[in-house]
Amino acid sequence: MDSLTDLTISEALDKLRSGAITSVELTQAHLDQIDQYDEQIRAFLTVTREIALEQAQAADEARANGDDKPLLGIPLAIKDVISTEGIETTCGSKILKGYVPIFNATCVQRLLDAGMVLLGKLNMDEFAMGSSTENSAYFETHNPWDMERVPGGSSGGSAASVTARMAMGTLGTDTGGSIRQPGSFCNLAALKPSYGRVSRYGLIAYGSSFDQTGPMTRTVEDAARILQVIAGLDPNDSTSRPDPVPNYLEALTGDVKGLKIGLPKEYFVDGMAADVEKAVRAAIQQFEDMGAEIKEVTLPHTKYSLPAYYIVATSEASANLARYDGIRFGTKVDTGDMWNTYRKTRGEGFGEEVKWRIMLGTYALSAGYYDAWYGKALGVRSLIKQDFDKVFSEVDVLMAAVSPTTAFKFGENMADPLKMILADVLTISANVAGICGISVPCGFDSQNLPIGLQILGPQLGEETILRAAHAYEQANEWYQAKPTLIR
Ligand code: GLN
Repeated sequence: MDSLTDLTISEALDKLRSGAITSVELTQAHLDQIDQYDEQIRAFLTVTREIALEQAQAADEARANGDDKPLLGIPLAIKDVISTEGIETTCGSKILKGYVPIFNATCVQRLLDAGMVLLGKLNMDEFAMGSSTENSAYFETHNPWDMERVPGGSSGGSAASVTARMAMGTLGTDTGGSIRQPGSFCNLAALKPSYGRVSRYGLIAYGSSFDQTGPMTRTVEDAARILQVIAGLDPNDSTSRPDPVPNYLEALTGDVKGLKIGLPKEYFVDGMAADVEKAVRAAIQQFEDMGAEIKEVTLPHTKYSLPAYYIVATSEASANLARYDGIRFGTKVDTGDMWNTYRKTRGEGFGEEVKWRIMLGTYALSAGYYDAWYGKALGVRSLIKQDFDKVFSEVDVLMAAVSPTTAFKFGENMADPLKMILADVLTISANVAGICGISVPCGFDSQNLPIGLQILGPQLGEETILRAAHAYEQANEWYQAKPTLIR
């Protein structure tokens, strides 16, 4: 038998149902894996050992009494930007050190109601700002495929923990690529749902009109299982979509005959690593061999996506992060007078990356500049959205790379912020337009680093991208590869 930590969620559910394993055994195996590997990898900010074992015990008892909830007894972990009742939630920031939410985010509550066992909270770039997890105020997370490289970001802890078999699946969040890019750097199925598909209640806001929570797992089927539980209307989030949630598992037919695939010519960019382009083009060829139709399309406003994102998202961040004043949440640097308490708390509590974004956003929103910057960027956002509306009237999905390169080394992009920002050039438009996207493993480069294929779908097109990703994944063995460190 495979080791318990090698099981996918679907396989583990079968074994739990047949009584071949218990949730306590499964959970203990993951806690042992954390003990063995996390000292090097550093994916977890908090490990909730006792809670996990209690929940596992309760899951086993419930199952013995005939319960069969969709994720009963499955050990998962959660990015530290998502609120967990009674468990410290820091957003990877010093300013929230010691902050213990008094409620669960809706997605966490839904996972708990579905039987999840919670292993802990995962490292991330501070307030989800970054692409490498190097902006965490606590420590760097290592990529299990090469310990000298970043796992991607901002959901780097989420990605590394699943790749290293320390959790069966995780929730990440994606404001400009933070689920898909670390998913591709770590060889995972990683899905950013359409804006509004998953409730943001209890997700600590960075760019509220971009943020989405989604699953990161080792198979597309596992991602579908988690999405099934967390998707759907939430009265606590007025931006959550009322549309009924389809049966995502039923969408995984393995059939892509007649699927119309668009290749946006703006996404096959100069500067893309040769191995990445080769693997992505080979994957697209394989779709054609499986009966899909390929067509080149154009998204003419793509080059404005990064600038529009950095104006609108930082503007929203400047408003969202105004609440960390030392009075209501987390750390306080008490100076005895109010103004200096604010100043020092924020000055010492936020990292450099967060500060420049707050400053940029505050500038873009200030009187006299608002129309020229924020207003203009919103106009550009509409044009980008219209580009997608137009191509999705002609094709079912779009395909491209997730990131122009594979995982980079620590420090490589930190000295050059523009280079770091450009790492998101292929993912950010989806958030600007509110559409859905998934990263699925499609090969390795010459240094044995994973490459991700990105499949984008229209708003609420999750069934179609899951179907396409699943068909490709199952026709290949990339997703089964395991990092040497963990073997
Ligand atoms: N890397 C992008 C940024 O730094 C996106 C981050 C995210 O998706 N949370 O803003």
